[in-house]
Amino acid sequence: MVHFSGYCRLCEAQVPSRKRLSWNETILETKHFVVMPSLGALVPGWLLIVPKNHVLSAALLSPRMTNELVQVTDSVVQMVTETYGPTYILEHGPALPARRVGCGVDHAHLHAVPFAGDLRKRAEAFLPTGSAFVSGSLLEAKRAVDRGEDYLFIREPSGNAFVATHHNFESQTFRMAIATSLGMSEQYNWREYPQAQNVDATLGRLRDFAKRQRSNRDLVRTGVA
Ligand SMILES: [Zn+2]
Ligand SMILES: [Zn+2]
Repeated sequence: MVHFSGYCRLCEAQVPSRKRLSWNETILETKHFVVMPSLGALVPGWLLIVPKNHVLSAALLSPRMTNELVQVTDSVVQMVTETYGPTYILEHGPALPARRVGCGVDHAHLHAVPFAGDLRKRAEAFLPTGSAFVSGSLLEAKRAVDRGEDYLFIREPSGNAFVATHHNFESQTFRMAIATSLGMSEQYNWREYPQAQNVDATLGRLRDFAKRQRSNRDLVRTGVA
C-alpha cells in the first residue's frame, strides 16, 4: 500500500488501529479498493469507495484499476439500492491537491448516496456560471484534469453518467445540493456535522448484508452453491 507522506484522512482510515472508529469500518474490500461509511453522511446508506493507494482522483487510476473500480461500484450500487433505494455515485475530482473542490481530502473517493429525486438537476443549481453536466465518463474527467480543470462526476441510478468541469468549483457542491433538497441546508458541512447516527445506522444494516454477499460468493466459488 502506498501511503502519502503528509496527513491523509483516507490513508489513515486504513490503518488497523483507526478501524475502531465507526466511519473507518470496512464494509466491502477488493484487491485495490475499500468501501466504508461516510463521515458526514446526510442520509443512512451513504458510503465511500476508496482506492487503497493514495491517488488524487478516480480520473488518474490506470485502466486496470478503473475496471476494478467499476466492478466495486456496481456491487455497492446494488447493495445500497436493495437496502435504501435508488443510488447515485458522485465524485468531486480535483485537478491538483489542495483545491477547493477537494475539500481537504486529496485522496480519491466515490460517494454512493441513496437519493430519491433528480440529484443532477439539484446539483446543477449549485454549479458556477459556465459549467454544466454533460454526458460523459471518467474518461472525460481525465481530459478535464489533463487541461488543469477540476471535475464533478455523477452516475445516476439508471447508470447514465455526467461530468461537469470548471477551474474553481465551490467546496462540497453535491453536499449542498443534497442537504438543501432534504431541508437541512445548514448541515451540509461534514466538518461541522459528522452525522455519526447515520454512520451507525448504515453499519447496522450494511455490515451484515456485505458479509452475506461475501459468503454467498465464496460458496459459489467453492462450488457449494
Ligand atoms: Zn491518502
Ligand atoms: Zn468527498
